[in-house]
Amino acid sequence: MGTGGGSVSGTLRVVNPANGELITSVPAVSAAEVAVAAERAHRVFESRIWSGTSPRERAEVLLRLAGLMERDAELLARLDSEDAGKPITECRTGDVPGAIESVRWFAEAADKVFGRVAPTGHDSLGLVSREPVGVAAAILPWNYPLAMAAWKVGPALAAGNSLLLKPAEATPRSALHLAALAAEAGLPDGVLTVLPGHGPVTGTALARDPWVRALSFTGSTATGRRILADAADTNFKRVSLEMGGKSPQVLLPDALHYGDELIENMVEAAFLTMGQNCTAGSRVLVHRAIADEVLARFTAAAKALVVGDPARPDTQMGPLISRTAFTRVADAVDAARAAGARIHTAGLPHGLPPHGAYYPPTVITGAPDGSEVLTRELFGPVVTVQTFTTEEEAVRLANATEYGLAASVWTRDLDAAFRLSRGIQAGVVSVNAYSEGDLTTPFGGWKQSGFGGAEKSTSAFEQWTSPKTVWIRTR
Ligand code: NAD
Repeated sequence: MGTGGGSVSGTLRVVNPANGELITSVPAVSAAEVAVAAERAHRVFESRIWSGTSPRERAEVLLRLAGLMERDAELLARLDSEDAGKPITECRTGDVPGAIESVRWFAEAADKVFGRVAPTGHDSLGLVSREPVGVAAAILPWNYPLAMAAWKVGPALAAGNSLLLKPAEATPRSALHLAALAAEAGLPDGVLTVLPGHGPVTGTALARDPWVRALSFTGSTATGRRILADAADTNFKRVSLEMGGKSPQVLLPDALHYGDELIENMVEAAFLTMGQNCTAGSRVLVHRAIADEVLARFTAAAKALVVGDPARPDTQMGPLISRTAFTRVADAVDAARAAGARIHTAGLPHGLPPHGAYYPPTVITGAPDGSEVLTRELFGPVVTVQTFTTEEEAVRLANATEYGLAASVWTRDLDAAFRLSRGIQAGVVSVNAYSEGDLTTPFGGWKQSGFGGAEKSTSAFEQWTSPKTVWIRTR
């Protein structure tokens, strides 16, 4: 998977994908520097300056952090929009408020998640608690830079760990600002360390580091495979993986009951963040009886999306992260066309900056079985449409992928909705919505999308803590 901004050894070049211009250069952390940072994080953990505080005290620092993020919300939105090419409105209304809410939610949860007492006899007491792992690490993707940082920082710090955070090459600035805000909020030095760097150098060093006891990764399946192998090869650090997807949107014969709301949700599912979204609904599976009408309305809505400068508030689709990503998407669509598929697109508007990696919203019908556009995560504004006639066929098509992150099902028939949500192999199935739920619901994928349910909700604490049983013999 491409990582956007180009790089030279020792430096990350942060490039604006909207125009190809250099925004800034950031020093890239070397493997030796990772080792130093990890050892320091270990010493800070052992000092108990953070790990020894009460959960309530930790909650208060994290609540202050959420307040400071709110103060700097506009700046944070601008950093992610410029670095990742995301429409500013999406950052202002989605990513940044979501990140603030996440830090606040985990702060509030810090002193509300209880351990357990085992049902023993009267001569003993079994206490089951969850303890911080010590040094924890998180490796982030570029598509939701601040939001993914917040999903990790919130529970990892609330649990009392020291955290090493590696942002993606293309998008280091919001994580660096988050660390500055954490210091301002009163987080002790060395508890949160942001390590911008190259995946194969900085990321590999984290995955192989002997002090790191738990590593949470969000990114591509190929990188996840490497990280798991590195962990196995070194100290068996606990790894949680949140990876790619090829998520279906299943429309049963009565789905058009939801009218414009259905079409709007389909468009959001397919084209949010230019389709560079792990849960993108990149495969529409529609019942044959309504396929023509759905295709006409969906295609018209996709063609009407406003493509342009991400800094403009009315822009709905900005550029892809890089020219490399553009070529990957364009090649896959060209191959589908050559194999006989039909491509529906309005093309790009005139006047876009020539060096921006813009790709138009694209709908594909008639892709041959097994073709790349049906099976591979393209990570771009491209969605395929396939038809079915029976529920069994819909489930078979939905599951005809090595991914299992998300799915949506549209119908008023409660029994059918339930049957499909049981039958589809995915970590999150939403009914009559495109949604990952909210912070109260666990998030994660099945199959090659990940280990499932490790993010959000109180379940998130499981990836950042280790269970401990204390057995007390009473007399
Ligand atoms: P990527 O795998 O290229 O990079 C992700 C991170 O891994 C980056 O920080 C990168 O520097 C680092 N990395 C790269 N090589 C590494 C290595 N050998 N060892 C350790 N770290 C390494 O992914 P990306 O292109 O940044 O992000 C897009 C992918 O992320 C997509 O597949 C998308 O579906 C997935 N994603 C998943 C979720 C989810 O919650 N499931 C959320 C967002 C994105």
